[in-house]
Amino acid sequence: MPIYEYKCKNCDFISGHLILKPSDRKKILCRNCNGSKLRKIVSRFATHKTESQRVAEFDPTKKTDDSFYKDDRNIGLWAQKRMQQLGMDTGDSFKETLEKGRSKKILDNL
Ligand SMILES: [Zn+2]
Repeated sequence: MPIYEYKCKNCDFISGHLILKPSDRKKILCRNCNGSKLRKIVSRFATHKTESQRVAEFDPTKKTDDSFYKDDRNIGLWAQKRMQQLGMDTGDSFKETLEKGRSKKILDNL
């Protein structure tokens, strides 16, 4: 089901809305204050995230438990985030190296 979560810019209330077609987006209102200024937020239930979403959501100052790093896709997020914060373009070769690290292919080149 295409249910998206929206946060009200007026009262910060978060509500889920079923969006079947683009025009539905314009009709949704905050269920708390009926405000129409809603911002789509990344669903907490989303199972599939893009690389950039994961980097954006990753907070290096928050303590993450070990299971976070047991997910191979999260390896290197810290480095990527840090580079972004420093305004550095991580570039393709860096991502390639990360990808090799994740897939363990990096060992082939040693
Ligand atoms: Zn509201």
